[in-house]
Amino acid sequence: MNIILLGPPGAGKGTQAAKLEAERGMVQLSTGDMLRAAVKAATPVGLQAKAVMETGGLVSDEIVTGIISERLDQPDVAKGFILDGFPRTEAQAASLDTLLTEKNMKLDHVIELEVDEAILADRVTGRFTCAKCGTGYHDRYKLPVVPDVCDVCGSTEFKRRADDNAETVRARMAEYHAKTAPILPYYEAKGLVARVDGMADIAHVSEAIEAILDKR
Ligand code: ADP
Ligand code: AMP
Repeated sequence: MNIILLGPPGAGKGTQAAKLEAERGMVQLSTGDMLRAAVKAATPVGLQAKAVMETGGLVSDEIVTGIISERLDQPDVAKGFILDGFPRTEAQAASLDTLLTEKNMKLDHVIELEVDEAILADRVTGRFTCAKCGTGYHDRYKLPVVPDVCDVCGSTEFKRRADDNAETVRARMAEYHAKTAPILPYYEAKGLVARVDGMADIAHVSEAIEAILDKR
């Protein structure tokens, strides 16, 4: 099963992708995570992407499509993949189709997480992750069970993304409306889109996604 999770920043894509990894053995393919790793490693791609990411703009279609193409060649994607943060433009959606055809793969669902715009900034600015294993948390909606200790690996170190500030979130939201939301009709025409209420709590969003994946 291969799916796209689509939705604005803070919709819950990463949270739900991590649950699908844990519960179904699927593989999360987050272009944001891949780009942040490239920035940290100061690779040529990372050096190009850094300034764009800091302002909340979109990295070039060529760069992200290249990264995804390489990632789709890794054997673990045969377990089923979850695209998180890709495609983000009509050009990326078209390139993805070409790549999937070349690699003899197909998409099963495009799941849109619908969330009221008003709460997205709150979701993003309250987000933090375990510095060791990457488990995601939120200042109010998902705190570690034991304060300041990661539920999954026990680490006491956490980090926040440099671009998770109110100003950058506004820019990222504008990019989503201008460039990413317009790709929905492309997938609707293929009969692939399912919508989930992303305002529900994390467990209920997860149940709704599972129901879509289990539908025959
Ligand atoms: P995205 O990957 O779409 O940008 P995340 O999965 O990182 O979004 O979620 C953003 C923040 O909101 C995280 O701190 C996460 O813990 C929290 N969150 C995710 N889903 C929900 C939900 N359904 N209800 C409340 N908070 C949520
Ligand atoms: P994310 O982790 O999905 O919130 O992405 C963080 C940032 O990485 C975005 O604001 C963009 O600058 C960049 N990025 C991630 N995925 C893409 C993509 N598919 N196309 C262009 N830029 C991307």
